[in-house]
Amino acid sequence: MAECLFCKIINHEIPSETVYEDEKLLAIKDIHPQAPVHLLIMPKKHIPTLLDLAGEDKDLIGDIYLVANRLAREKSTAQCGFRLVTNCGPDSGQEVLHIHFHLLGGRKLNWPPG
Ligand code: AMP
Ligand code: ZN
Repeated sequence: MAECLFCKIINHEIPSETVYEDEKLLAIKDIHPQAPVHLLIMPKKHIPTLLDLAGEDKDLIGDIYLVANRLAREKSTAQCGFRLVTNCGPDSGQEVLHIHFHLLGGRKLNWPPG
């Protein structure tokens, strides 16, 4: 998707701090971190929102959870706890219409979120 911010990051047209990359997935540091650990895990395939997921994306979403598991351990948030969040649609505050999972940790996280 030519105009998509995260597609541009995936295609290296915009710089980012990569923390994980494979054939199908990319994980980067969030540019405005809301916690000491704030990563964004995304598929390289352009899927706008959670509502656009199809059956064929089942493995991709499973892989995202496995990368979250790996990064949570690497960033030492696994023991204290962390959160994996996907915003979907206007009320959630989703700004970038390319599905992504926020991995947040390194501090006490409030619940319910604001
Ligand atoms: P959301 O509101 O769920 O769509 O989250 C979008 C996230 O992308 C926000 O947390 C932003 O801080 C983050 N973001 C926006 N631009 C960039 C960028 N160029 N590099 C890394 N993260 C970004
Ligand atoms: Zn995209």
